[in-house]
Amino acid sequence: MDRLLTGLQPSGALTIGNYAGGISQVVNYQKDYETFLFVPDMHAITVPQDPEALHKNIINAIALYIACGVDPNLPDMHIYIQSENPYHANLSWIFECHTPHGDLTRMHQFKAKSALHESFTEGLVTYPVLMAADILLYDPKYVPTGIDQKQHVELARNLAIRFNNRYGELFRLPEPLIPTVGAKIRDLQNPEQKMSKSTDNPKASVFLSDTEKQIRKKIMSAVTDSEAVIKFDEANKPGVSNLLTIYSVFADTTVEDAVAKFEGGGYGDLKKATADAVVSKVIPFQDKYNEVINSGIIDDILNEGRDYSIKIAQAKYEQVRRAVGFGRI
Ligand code: ATP
Ligand code: MG
Repeated sequence: MDRLLTGLQPSGALTIGNYAGGISQVVNYQKDYETFLFVPDMHAITVPQDPEALHKNIINAIALYIACGVDPNLPDMHIYIQSENPYHANLSWIFECHTPHGDLTRMHQFKAKSALHESFTEGLVTYPVLMAADILLYDPKYVPTGIDQKQHVELARNLAIRFNNRYGELFRLPEPLIPTVGAKIRDLQNPEQKMSKSTDNPKASVFLSDTEKQIRKKIMSAVTDSEAVIKFDEANKPGVSNLLTIYSVFADTTVEDAVAKFEGGGYGDLKKATADAVVSKVIPFQDKYNEVINSGIIDDILNEGRDYSIKIAQAKYEQVRRAVGFGRI
Protein backbone atom coordinates (compact mmCIF):
# COMPACT_ATOMS: atom_id res chain seq x y z
CA MET A 1 0.00 0.00 0.00
CA ASP A 2 1.40 3.42 -0.94
CA ARG A 3 1.96 5.91 1.83
CA LEU A 4 0.72 9.41 2.53
CA LEU A 5 2.49 11.64 5.04
CA THR A 6 1.78 15.09 6.39
CA GLY A 7 2.15 17.25 9.50
CA LEU A 8 0.74 20.51 10.84
CA GLN A 9 2.86 22.57 13.23
CA PRO A 10 1.41 23.04 16.73
CA SER A 11 2.38 26.71 16.54
CA GLY A 12 -1.14 27.86 17.39
CA ALA A 13 -4.78 26.91 16.84
CA LEU A 14 -5.33 25.44 13.37
CA THR A 15 -6.96 27.64 10.72
CA ILE A 16 -9.42 26.96 7.92
CA GLY A 17 -6.35 27.15 5.64
CA ASN A 18 -4.76 24.23 7.48
CA TYR A 19 -8.01 22.34 7.07
CA ALA A 20 -8.15 23.04 3.32
CA GLY A 21 -4.49 22.32 2.52
CA GLY A 22 -3.77 19.61 5.07
CA ILE A 23 -6.42 17.85 7.15
CA SER A 24 -9.24 17.66 4.63
CA GLN A 25 -6.93 15.90 2.19
CA VAL A 26 -5.92 13.32 4.80
CA VAL A 27 -9.61 12.73 5.50
CA ASN A 28 -10.32 12.29 1.78
CA TYR A 29 -7.49 9.84 1.13
CA GLN A 30 -7.08 8.06 4.46
CA LYS A 31 -8.74 4.83 3.32
CA ASP A 32 -6.59 4.51 0.21
CA TYR A 33 -3.12 4.91 1.73
CA GLU A 34 -1.10 3.99 4.74
CA THR A 35 -1.14 7.37 6.46
CA PHE A 36 1.55 8.97 8.62
CA LEU A 37 0.11 12.04 10.32
CA PHE A 38 2.44 13.73 12.76
CA VAL A 39 2.62 16.83 14.92
CA PRO A 40 5.86 18.64 14.01
CA ASP A 41 6.61 20.16 17.42
CA MET A 42 10.30 20.44 16.50
CA HIS A 43 9.30 22.75 13.66
CA ALA A 44 7.17 24.89 15.95
CA ILE A 45 10.20 26.09 17.94
CA THR A 46 11.77 27.66 14.85
CA VAL A 47 9.97 30.72 16.23
CA PRO A 48 9.65 31.34 20.01
CA GLN A 49 6.99 29.25 21.78
CA ASP A 50 5.67 29.20 25.31
CA PRO A 51 6.40 25.62 26.57
CA GLU A 52 3.07 25.19 28.36
CA ALA A 53 1.16 26.43 25.33
CA LEU A 54 3.18 24.14 23.07
CA HIS A 55 2.31 21.03 25.13
CA LYS A 56 -1.35 22.00 24.96
CA ASN A 57 -1.30 22.79 21.25
CA ILE A 58 0.19 19.36 20.51
CA ILE A 59 -2.64 17.50 22.21
CA ASN A 60 -5.25 19.92 20.87
CA ALA A 61 -3.96 19.32 17.34
CA ILE A 62 -4.43 15.55 17.68
CA ALA A 63 -7.97 15.98 19.00
CA LEU A 64 -8.73 18.37 16.18
CA TYR A 65 -7.44 16.02 13.46
CA ILE A 66 -9.86 13.41 14.76
CA ALA A 67 -12.66 15.95 15.15
CA CYS A 68 -12.21 16.92 11.48
CA GLY A 69 -12.68 13.33 10.37
CA VAL A 70 -9.28 11.65 10.62
CA ASP A 71 -10.08 8.08 11.73
CA PRO A 72 -7.54 6.82 14.28
CA ASN A 73 -9.13 3.35 14.17
CA LEU A 74 -8.16 2.68 10.58
CA PRO A 75 -5.53 -0.06 10.70
CA ASP A 76 -3.15 1.93 8.47
CA MET A 77 -3.48 5.28 10.25
CA HIS A 78 -0.48 6.29 12.39
CA ILE A 79 -0.59 9.51 14.38
CA TYR A 80 2.54 10.57 16.28
CA ILE A 81 4.55 13.43 17.72
CA GLN A 82 7.72 14.24 15.78
CA SER A 83 9.93 14.82 18.84
CA GLU A 84 9.03 11.39 20.26
CA ASN A 85 10.88 9.79 17.36
CA PRO A 86 14.63 10.55 17.50
CA TYR A 87 15.32 9.56 13.89
CA HIS A 88 13.90 12.75 12.39
CA ALA A 89 16.63 14.85 14.02
CA ASN A 90 19.31 12.26 13.29
CA LEU A 91 18.56 12.13 9.58
CA SER A 92 18.13 15.89 9.47
CA TRP A 93 21.75 16.35 10.54
CA ILE A 94 22.98 14.13 7.74
CA PHE A 95 20.80 16.05 5.28
CA GLU A 96 22.09 19.40 6.57
CA CYS A 97 25.55 18.27 5.63
CA HIS A 98 24.34 17.64 2.07
CA THR A 99 22.38 20.86 1.53
CA PRO A 100 23.98 24.03 0.16
CA HIS A 101 23.25 26.97 2.49
CA GLY A 102 22.07 29.11 -0.44
CA ASP A 103 19.31 26.60 -1.28
CA LEU A 104 17.80 27.31 2.14
CA THR A 105 18.11 31.08 2.29
CA ARG A 106 16.47 31.27 -1.16
CA MET A 107 13.27 29.53 0.08
CA HIS A 108 10.13 31.72 -0.16
CA GLN A 109 9.01 30.81 3.31
CA PHE A 110 12.38 31.54 4.90
CA LYS A 111 12.35 34.98 3.31
CA ALA A 112 8.80 35.69 4.48
CA LYS A 113 9.23 34.41 8.05
CA SER A 114 12.69 35.86 8.67
CA ALA A 115 11.38 39.28 7.57
CA LEU A 116 8.82 39.14 10.41
CA HIS A 117 11.45 38.90 13.15
CA GLU A 118 14.28 41.26 14.02
CA SER A 119 16.57 38.30 14.58
CA PHE A 120 15.98 34.65 13.82
CA THR A 121 17.57 31.33 14.65
CA GLU A 122 19.44 28.89 12.44
CA GLY A 123 16.44 26.57 12.93
CA LEU A 124 14.34 28.86 10.77
CA VAL A 125 16.92 28.46 8.00
CA THR A 126 17.35 24.68 8.23
CA TYR A 127 13.69 23.81 8.89
CA PRO A 128 13.04 22.51 5.35
CA VAL A 129 15.91 20.02 5.83
CA LEU A 130 14.23 18.63 8.94
CA MET A 131 11.04 18.49 6.88
CA ALA A 132 12.91 16.50 4.22
CA ALA A 133 13.90 14.01 6.93
CA ASP A 134 10.30 13.89 8.22
CA ILE A 135 9.22 12.86 4.76
CA LEU A 136 12.01 10.67 3.38
CA LEU A 137 12.24 8.43 6.46
CA TYR A 138 8.90 6.91 5.45
CA ASP A 139 9.10 6.67 1.63
CA PRO A 140 5.67 8.24 1.07
CA LYS A 141 4.24 8.55 -2.42
CA TYR A 142 2.34 11.74 -1.57
CA VAL A 143 2.67 14.64 0.84
CA PRO A 144 -0.71 16.43 1.12
CA THR A 145 -0.01 20.12 1.51
CA GLY A 146 -1.01 23.66 0.62
CA ILE A 147 0.87 25.51 -2.09
CA ASP A 148 3.09 27.23 0.50
CA GLN A 149 4.92 23.97 1.24
CA LYS A 150 5.38 22.88 -2.38
CA GLN A 151 8.91 24.28 -2.52
CA HIS A 152 9.86 22.38 0.64
CA VAL A 153 8.57 19.07 -0.74
CA GLU A 154 10.63 19.80 -3.86
CA LEU A 155 13.70 20.29 -1.68
CA ALA A 156 13.03 16.88 -0.11
CA ARG A 157 12.68 15.37 -3.55
CA ASN A 158 15.95 16.93 -4.70
CA LEU A 159 17.74 15.66 -1.61
CA ALA A 160 16.38 12.19 -2.32
CA ILE A 161 17.67 12.36 -5.89
CA ARG A 162 21.08 13.60 -4.71
CA PHE A 163 21.33 10.82 -2.12
CA ASN A 164 20.18 8.10 -4.47
CA ASN A 165 22.74 9.20 -7.07
CA ARG A 166 25.58 9.34 -4.59
CA TYR A 167 24.86 6.41 -2.27
CA GLY A 168 22.51 4.09 -4.21
CA GLU A 169 18.70 3.77 -4.06
CA LEU A 170 17.73 4.84 -0.56
CA PHE A 171 14.63 6.99 -0.87
CA ARG A 172 11.37 7.06 -2.78
CA LEU A 173 10.80 10.41 -4.51
CA PRO A 174 7.80 12.11 -2.82
CA GLU A 175 5.25 14.23 -4.64
CA PRO A 176 3.27 17.11 -3.13
CA LEU A 177 -0.49 16.49 -3.18
CA ILE A 178 -2.04 19.90 -3.58
CA PRO A 179 -5.82 20.32 -3.48
CA THR A 180 -7.53 21.70 -6.59
CA VAL A 181 -9.54 24.11 -4.42
CA GLY A 182 -8.09 25.66 -1.26
CA ALA A 183 -4.36 25.26 -1.92
CA LYS A 184 -3.87 28.79 -0.67
CA ILE A 185 -6.50 30.30 1.60
CA ARG A 186 -5.64 33.97 1.95
CA ASP A 187 -5.35 36.26 4.96
CA LEU A 188 -8.76 37.96 5.42
CA GLN A 189 -7.24 41.36 6.16
CA ASN A 190 -4.35 41.23 3.70
CA PRO A 191 -5.38 38.89 0.88
CA GLU A 192 -2.01 39.31 -0.81
CA GLN A 193 -0.69 36.92 1.87
CA LYS A 194 -1.69 33.40 2.82
CA MET A 195 -3.70 32.82 6.00
CA SER A 196 -1.45 31.53 8.82
CA LYS A 197 -2.04 30.24 12.30
CA SER A 198 0.91 32.16 13.71
CA THR A 199 -0.49 35.56 12.82
CA ASP A 200 -0.32 38.71 14.91
CA ASN A 201 -3.70 39.85 13.69
CA PRO A 202 -6.49 37.55 14.95
CA LYS A 203 -8.96 39.12 12.47
CA ALA A 204 -6.83 37.80 9.61
CA SER A 205 -7.40 34.08 10.24
CA VAL A 206 -10.44 31.95 10.99
CA PHE A 207 -9.42 29.35 13.55
CA LEU A 208 -11.12 25.98 13.83
CA SER A 209 -11.65 26.88 17.52
CA ASP A 210 -13.46 30.19 16.82
CA THR A 211 -17.04 30.65 18.00
CA GLU A 212 -19.82 31.05 15.46
CA LYS A 213 -19.92 34.76 16.28
CA GLN A 214 -16.19 35.19 15.72
CA ILE A 215 -16.30 33.28 12.43
CA ARG A 216 -19.15 35.41 11.12
CA LYS A 217 -17.55 38.66 12.25
CA LYS A 218 -14.19 37.86 10.66
CA ILE A 219 -15.67 36.79 7.33
CA MET A 220 -18.12 39.70 7.18
CA SER A 221 -15.23 42.13 7.70
CA ALA A 222 -12.88 40.45 5.18
CA VAL A 223 -11.09 42.92 2.90
CA THR A 224 -12.39 42.85 -0.69
CA ASP A 225 -12.20 45.69 -3.26
CA SER A 226 -14.34 48.57 -4.46
CA GLU A 227 -15.29 47.12 -7.84
CA ALA A 228 -18.49 45.42 -6.63
CA VAL A 229 -18.14 42.62 -9.20
CA ILE A 230 -17.98 38.95 -8.21
CA LYS A 231 -15.52 37.02 -10.30
CA PHE A 232 -12.58 34.71 -9.68
CA ASP A 233 -9.40 36.61 -10.45
CA GLU A 234 -6.69 35.96 -7.87
CA ALA A 235 -4.24 38.50 -9.28
CA ASN A 236 -6.61 41.47 -9.39
CA LYS A 237 -9.32 40.47 -6.91
CA PRO A 238 -7.57 38.39 -4.24
CA GLY A 239 -10.12 39.17 -1.50
CA VAL A 240 -13.20 38.19 -3.50
CA SER A 241 -11.41 35.18 -5.00
CA ASN A 242 -10.52 34.10 -1.48
CA LEU A 243 -14.17 34.22 -0.36
CA LEU A 244 -15.17 32.16 -3.40
CA THR A 245 -12.44 29.65 -2.54
CA ILE A 246 -13.43 29.40 1.13
CA TYR A 247 -17.07 28.99 0.11
CA SER A 248 -16.14 26.21 -2.33
CA VAL A 249 -14.06 24.31 0.26
CA PHE A 250 -16.68 24.48 2.99
CA ALA A 251 -19.77 24.03 0.80
CA ASP A 252 -18.04 21.12 -1.04
CA THR A 253 -18.41 22.65 -4.46
CA THR A 254 -16.21 23.94 -7.28
CA VAL A 255 -15.08 27.53 -7.76
CA GLU A 256 -16.91 27.56 -11.13
CA ASP A 257 -20.20 26.63 -9.44
CA ALA A 258 -19.60 29.20 -6.70
CA VAL A 259 -18.99 31.93 -9.30
CA ALA A 260 -22.14 30.93 -11.17
CA LYS A 261 -24.12 31.07 -7.93
CA PHE A 262 -22.92 34.50 -6.78
CA GLU A 263 -22.11 36.47 -9.94
CA GLY A 264 -24.29 39.53 -10.33
CA GLY A 265 -24.87 39.65 -6.56
CA GLY A 266 -23.29 41.81 -3.85
CA TYR A 267 -20.27 41.10 -1.67
CA GLY A 268 -22.50 41.03 1.42
CA ASP A 269 -24.39 37.98 0.11
CA LEU A 270 -21.16 36.19 -0.79
CA LYS A 271 -19.73 36.88 2.66
CA LYS A 272 -22.88 35.71 4.42
CA ALA A 273 -23.03 32.46 2.42
CA THR A 274 -19.31 31.88 3.02
CA ALA A 275 -19.74 32.41 6.77
CA ASP A 276 -22.76 30.03 6.77
CA ALA A 277 -20.74 27.35 4.96
CA VAL A 278 -17.77 27.64 7.34
CA VAL A 279 -19.99 27.65 10.45
CA SER A 280 -21.93 24.61 9.27
CA LYS A 281 -18.72 22.55 9.06
CA VAL A 282 -16.56 23.98 11.82
CA ILE A 283 -19.05 24.11 14.70
CA PRO A 284 -19.77 20.33 14.53
CA PHE A 285 -15.97 19.76 14.52
CA GLN A 286 -15.87 21.57 17.85
CA ASP A 287 -18.51 19.31 19.41
CA LYS A 288 -16.54 16.27 18.31
CA TYR A 289 -13.31 17.91 19.52
CA ASN A 290 -14.73 18.28 23.03
CA GLU A 291 -15.74 14.64 22.98
CA VAL A 292 -12.26 13.48 21.87
CA ILE A 293 -10.26 15.68 24.23
CA ASN A 294 -12.22 14.35 27.21
CA SER A 295 -12.23 10.72 26.10
CA GLY A 296 -8.74 9.59 27.18
CA ILE A 297 -8.01 7.94 23.79
CA ILE A 298 -5.22 10.29 22.72
CA ASP A 299 -2.39 8.65 24.68
CA ASP A 300 -3.12 5.22 23.21
CA ILE A 301 -3.23 6.66 19.69
CA LEU A 302 0.09 8.44 20.21
CA ASN A 303 1.78 5.42 21.75
CA GLU A 304 0.87 3.27 18.75
CA GLY A 305 1.98 6.00 16.35
CA ARG A 306 5.27 6.55 18.17
CA ASP A 307 6.19 2.86 18.27
CA TYR A 308 5.25 2.21 14.66
CA SER A 309 6.93 5.33 13.30
CA ILE A 310 10.12 4.54 15.22
CA LYS A 311 10.16 1.05 13.73
CA ILE A 312 9.92 2.34 10.15
CA ALA A 313 12.25 5.31 10.70
CA GLN A 314 14.91 3.30 12.50
CA ALA A 315 15.17 0.84 9.60
CA LYS A 316 15.57 3.68 7.09
CA TYR A 317 18.06 5.54 9.27
CA GLU A 318 20.12 2.38 9.62
CA GLN A 319 20.44 2.14 5.81
CA VAL A 320 21.44 5.80 5.55
CA ARG A 321 23.90 5.59 8.42
CA ARG A 322 25.72 2.74 6.73
CA ALA A 323 25.59 4.44 3.34
CA VAL A 324 27.28 7.60 4.63
CA GLY A 325 29.84 5.65 6.67
CA PHE A 326 28.70 6.41 10.23
CA GLY A 327 29.55 4.10 13.11
CA ARG A 328 30.43 0.47 12.59
CA ILE A 329 29.49 -1.60 9.55
P1 ATP B 1 2.63 28.83 10.65
O1 ATP B 1 2.17 30.26 10.49
O2 ATP B 1 2.98 28.49 12.05
O3 ATP B 1 3.67 28.42 9.65
P2 ATP B 1 0.62 27.63 9.00
O4 ATP B 1 -0.80 28.10 9.08
O5 ATP B 1 1.44 28.06 7.84
O6 ATP B 1 1.32 27.98 10.37
P3 ATP B 1 1.74 24.97 8.88
O7 ATP B 1 1.78 24.13 10.10
O8 ATP B 1 3.00 25.64 8.45
O9 ATP B 1 0.57 26.05 9.07
O10 ATP B 1 1.19 24.10 7.68
C1 ATP B 1 0.32 22.99 7.90
C2 ATP B 1 -0.34 22.58 6.61
O11 ATP B 1 -1.33 23.56 6.26
C3 ATP B 1 0.63 22.52 5.43
O12 ATP B 1 0.24 21.45 4.61
C4 ATP B 1 0.39 23.82 4.72
O13 ATP B 1 0.72 23.76 3.35
C5 ATP B 1 -1.10 24.01 4.93
N1 ATP B 1 -1.46 25.43 4.90
C6 ATP B 1 -0.98 26.40 5.71
N2 ATP B 1 -1.56 27.56 5.43
C7 ATP B 1 -2.42 27.33 4.40
C8 ATP B 1 -3.31 28.16 3.67
N3 ATP B 1 -3.41 29.44 3.94
N4 ATP B 1 -4.05 27.58 2.68
C9 ATP B 1 -3.94 26.26 2.40
N5 ATP B 1 -3.11 25.43 3.06
C10 ATP B 1 -2.36 25.95 4.05
MG1 MG C 1 3.49 27.47 7.75
